[in-house]
Amino acid sequence: MGYVVLDAAGHVKERGKEGTLGPPKGRVEHGIVLPRCVDGHTHLGDAVWAQEPPSMSLPAIVAPPHGIKHLLLESTPIEKKIAAMRAALVEMGHAGVSLTVDFREEGVEGIRALRLAANGTGVEPFVLGRPVNWKDKDELFQVLQEADGLGLSALRDMDPEIARKACLETHRSGRFLALHASEDVRENIDPILDLKPSLLVHLTRATGHDLEKVADSHCAVAFCPRSNALFGGYPPISTAVKLGIPFVLGTDNLMFSAPDLFREMEFAYLSSRYHGKPVPPEQLVRAAFVTPWTILNMGTHAQLTPESPAKALVLRLPHKDDPYYQVCARGSGAHILSGY
Ligand SMILES: [Zn+2]
Repeated sequence: MGYVVLDAAGHVKERGKEGTLGPPKGRVEHGIVLPRCVDGHTHLGDAVWAQEPPSMSLPAIVAPPHGIKHLLLESTPIEKKIAAMRAALVEMGHAGVSLTVDFREEGVEGIRALRLAANGTGVEPFVLGRPVNWKDKDELFQVLQEADGLGLSALRDMDPEIARKACLETHRSGRFLALHASEDVRENIDPILDLKPSLLVHLTRATGHDLEKVADSHCAVAFCPRSNALFGGYPPISTAVKLGIPFVLGTDNLMFSAPDLFREMEFAYLSSRYHGKPVPPEQLVRAAFVTPWTILNMGTHAQLTPESPAKALVLRLPHKDDPYYQVCARGSGAHILSGY
């Protein structure tokens, strides 16, 4: 318990212990103060097509190159995709997000479209691109130059040699490497970890032994419980907590789920209890508000201290006894105070 003095943008000007604030000069509010949150996994391009999942397999919907989402992206004009991504980013901003780790399909054009869409929304994309033609080395270089890193579909969707070379090039250029793994079927974790990724998405079907290897590798994991539930899966969040694996939460495909981390935290918490493997609310709050900044090497954005670049989020919620539970179980964009 304590107090913070914020400027209009949400930066911390002063921070102190309860009862030490002199006569307040501005408005006084009571609530829970957090850094702004990071969506750990999105596909913003999917926002062009929002509907209930059709009754077909997950790969038939999302796997490149013939999954229906890829055919839809191909046949949608770029202006329409930019407008849909922009609307999604604005929606995320209203739910407290200031950065989203986005897997951007469609090569260099896709990266540029997302950066354009994000302009002026207040939400920054951390763009993980991928080339359209994996055999074109120049395209890969250009993707790595313009994106923050490489975001691969599952290794089993790719030629392993091409994937290995692309990952090597990603490390060589100092970029971030992330890929999907063990989403709807279990994949051998060894060749995946050999690629030295910084972030694995899903691991829904990973075994306890696989997760031990992930823990040893110090790779982080993005869990997307609502997205997994749509296809009958439940991610091993409690095992990750036990093993000390750093993890974040992602809202995943925009076509199926609202990009709202409060909904994701609530579902993660409730479903963990339903499955008899409860995850402490503090772990889920950290996964949305703190851990992503750390794994992206932007840790200062989670430090609510004067002179840090962090922007505070103030939630008007009961804050005395169990703030983490309140954020998980009751938080929403409607609780965010603005105009400090
Ligand atoms: Zn994904």
